[in-house]
Amino acid sequence: MRIFYVSPEVVPFAKTGGLADVAGSLPKTLAELGHDVRIIMPRYKMIDPKKWQLKKLNDEIWQGVLPGSKVMVYFYENEAYFASRDGLYQLPGGIDYDDNLQRFSAFCQAGLRLLKAINWQPEIVHCNDWQSALAIAYLKATYADDPFYKKMLTVYSIHNMAYLGLFNKELLPLTGLGWDQFTPDRLEFWGNFSLAKAGIVYSDVINTVSEKYAQEIQTAEFGCGLDGLLRSRAKDVYGIVNGLDYDVWNPATDKNIPRRYSPATLDLKVFNKLELQKRNSLPQKKETPVIGITTRLADQKGLDILSESLHAIMGLQCQLIVLGTGDQKYHDLLKEEKKRFPDQLGLNLGFDAALAELIYAGADMFLMPSHYEPCGLGQLISFKYGTIPIVRKTGGLADTVQNFNSKTGDGTGFVFEEYHSEALIRTIKNACDTFHKKNLWKALQEKVMRLDYSWEASAKKYVELYAKATGKF
Ligand code: ADP
Repeated sequence: MRIFYVSPEVVPFAKTGGLADVAGSLPKTLAELGHDVRIIMPRYKMIDPKKWQLKKLNDEIWQGVLPGSKVMVYFYENEAYFASRDGLYQLPGGIDYDDNLQRFSAFCQAGLRLLKAINWQPEIVHCNDWQSALAIAYLKATYADDPFYKKMLTVYSIHNMAYLGLFNKELLPLTGLGWDQFTPDRLEFWGNFSLAKAGIVYSDVINTVSEKYAQEIQTAEFGCGLDGLLRSRAKDVYGIVNGLDYDVWNPATDKNIPRRYSPATLDLKVFNKLELQKRNSLPQKKETPVIGITTRLADQKGLDILSESLHAIMGLQCQLIVLGTGDQKYHDLLKEEKKRFPDQLGLNLGFDAALAELIYAGADMFLMPSHYEPCGLGQLISFKYGTIPIVRKTGGLADTVQNFNSKTGDGTGFVFEEYHSEALIRTIKNACDTFHKKNLWKALQEKVMRLDYSWEASAKKYVELYAKATGKF
């Protein structure tokens, strides 16, 4: 199958979130399965053509290869919109560029132009999040009668429903689309317009990054105002959980951790724990359960219920090691708590990829009390590192972590459902109690380390999804 993968970010070239990881892994795996998949993304300033050995295809396109694969990557060159900016979407301080609409309209148009320039007709155009959604609208609205594009089918992937790509009504003409698109059944959204809505309205199939989240976004609580539209397209909405790149995430080969280990040498994991405790100036005690949390410090990630629970958690005689950045109120709150619990709370306010790896390797448990979680990566990485996830039953966390039953030995982590501090505390207590039952704990660790969340299984589901789209033609 020929697949054109349109993404605003791709690992290792540019990343702000989980979408970039998917875009760097899924196409690679699809290519290994024998498909002709090619990617387009903008050439941001941080993408050095020399470093990545890019070659000019024409005035507006660079061409390169996704490292570790044969996947062709096209980079859209535009000095004013992309090549001269430090950020992907925002100025430092988190303010959106005021011309994001023009930037990503130009990107989507260039992507479609490229196909004609190289005379390549993909069967599937797969777009990701609002930044690439206009490519779908152009195909279905602008190019509907163009014989070159007419047969191309479209997939729209939602990586986080909360990003709607909202713009002021007056700006609509800048997309090149007509006012006929400004209706409630097309792009209009409460007086303005949404690019995510364009993707959902016009794509042949829609998917998101877990089955549970595919259901959740069809509810008022998680649908961000587009749940009604999604319900009306329910038979075309799918969920496919993300995979993990085990070439990167593997405690047996990870060069960034003090002691490498595998299920057979699990006893070595504790050396990473001791190092992690030391790095955080906490007492180096093997018998004290260490709970790690590496996250954006935001309400989405459950920081509100975690804050409320903190004193009770400290009462459980465990250590909690936090790595994250985000909302100032959580920075301030955690700093205060660190003063109160210097021997139990490890606090690292910043983004630190190496420390994140040490936490996955050194912690006994990994906490994700998310309010919502489209897929979640942390729990999958934790599994591989024999670190038991403690999660709320939402989105991808619900699909990938089953609650541990100490009688039967079933389950892969500790799960609570109610978004409430009491449920969180109760579940952490249960995890800490289980931690002290050595044989039970070790068997659980060995089990989760052997789980397979590699990309291959997920990529095969994407192939089925593409087949569903082509079946509609
Ligand atoms: P999201 O994409 O919503 O932020 P995910 O769980 O899908 O959440 O992925 C987040 C990834 O980023 C995880 O691998 C997590 O370990 C990592 N991460 C988050 N915050 C930090 C940080 N402060 N330092 C290092 N890595 C981080």
